[in-house]
Amino acid sequence: MSVTAEKFQISEGGARFLASPRNMLIGNEWTAPASNRYFDVENPASGEVIAHVAEGAKEDIDGAVRAARRAFESGSWPRMSASERGRLLWKLADLLEDRAQEFAELETLDNGKPLTVSKAVDVPLAVDLFRYMAGWATKLEGSTIPVSVPYAQGAEFLAYTLREPVGVVGQIIPWNFPLLMAAWKLGPALASGCTVVLKPAEQTPLSALHLGELILQAGYPEGVVNIVPGFGETAGAALAAHPDVDKVAFTGSTEVGKLIVKAAGESNLKKVTLELGGKSPNIVFADADLKAAVPGAANAIFFNHGQCCCAGSRLYVHRSVFDQVIDGVAERAKQMSVGQGFDPQSEMGPLVSHDQLTCVCSYLEQGSREGARAIVGGKRIGDRGYFVEPTVLVDTQPGMKVVDEEIFGPVVTAMPFDDPDEIAAVANDTIYGLAAAVWTKDISMAHKLARRLKAGSVWINCYNVFDAALPFGGYKQSGWGREMGRAALDLYTEIKAVTIQL
Ligand code: ADP
Repeated sequence: MSVTAEKFQISEGGARFLASPRNMLIGNEWTAPASNRYFDVENPASGEVIAHVAEGAKEDIDGAVRAARRAFESGSWPRMSASERGRLLWKLADLLEDRAQEFAELETLDNGKPLTVSKAVDVPLAVDLFRYMAGWATKLEGSTIPVSVPYAQGAEFLAYTLREPVGVVGQIIPWNFPLLMAAWKLGPALASGCTVVLKPAEQTPLSALHLGELILQAGYPEGVVNIVPGFGETAGAALAAHPDVDKVAFTGSTEVGKLIVKAAGESNLKKVTLELGGKSPNIVFADADLKAAVPGAANAIFFNHGQCCCAGSRLYVHRSVFDQVIDGVAERAKQMSVGQGFDPQSEMGPLVSHDQLTCVCSYLEQGSREGARAIVGGKRIGDRGYFVEPTVLVDTQPGMKVVDEEIFGPVVTAMPFDDPDEIAAVANDTIYGLAAAVWTKDISMAHKLARRLKAGSVWINCYNVFDAALPFGGYKQSGWGREMGRAALDLYTEIKAVTIQL
């Protein structure tokens, strides 16, 4: 591992965007916050301030919700055809694709991830998501339903269902994939005809705000998309508790997810969807193709510096190949080039913030106190920026915090297993259920295990495979509902049953 030199250059569009304080997007106007307060946004590779962003709070959320409500009830949005809505989403995808480089650079500067990753993963997946959802706008169909009505013998009815947008939607997103999470949220909401108040994470508000410029350029009607940056306890909490918001969609920690549910229940029982934490098992069998499984296991935990809710953070390896696999993953960790994201050599950047660094380091210390042994990594790198060594922990067992809790950093706990029949129960022994993976050549066994694993995504002989068409979300305390795919659309619509007596 080596931390590389700190040098970057960003293109003109990004530089222009960063040059002045960024306001909130409310009713298609860039609006200063009621408090007139702006917060600092920093580059996690250096800790330097790179931008000043409006600190939205309750009053601003109120204004944004009013704009979204007006847009939902009147104006051109509710009258727009499904085809036109689809075209607007497609246009947004085109505009984003045209400026892919600029968005990738902002993402890397703000979040810390390697530019190679922002360019290859974050921006293209966001573009693809908007295009996928554009296609759904014209396909949200109801059905005709034969009804019998036992107490109305002889009467004839025509009954059908309408799928209608759920209304004004509050969307609260995290900092690990700032642009992509905005796309996952906005895409299905706009395709189904909702209006939105989006609150980006305070650590990484830049790409969502920049996307706001493209939303204006694409020609979205006034108030359809409102973007209010700010802190969770103020802006986020106000959105979750707002009595005129019909649904809140949240991605973040399980702890905050529970606060969202409480706020929804205590205000207006708004609909809630949640994509929360994970502690995903990654299971390598003795017959697996280790040439694929070893880099696969490394990618499962080290991709995005382990800051993925679906990270493969519990690695279970059959005892007969345990040393071979663990040594391979450790070797991969040793060779990883850790450095600031603009260095083309960087495979891993800094964690997103000082808080995140403190959190991950305290897990490492706690793990070591509880008897876990780092065979590679285990500490912070340097004292500038928030870099942590990719880490493999062995001698771990359930009951240890590093095994039971989500670390959200590049730290994997590796454990051997003996009995393949027992591995599903071991893998499911967690409060979470977001993802799981199985590496084996025994396809029948892999399919059987896929059925037994309590997780929203199961990958077989691969990891971190995402597609706009594939639903993503959690069992148990990993969440409610699904993002992406047809499943996401269902959760942005209400079903209305219409019955006519003939
Ligand atoms: P993390 O702990 O990884 O930062 P959080 O769950 O705290 O994740 O944050 C995810 C998103 O939730 C961010 O946009 C954050 O501002 C927001 N958030 C944090 N606390 C609250 C809260 N009490 N109510 C609503 N949103 C919140």
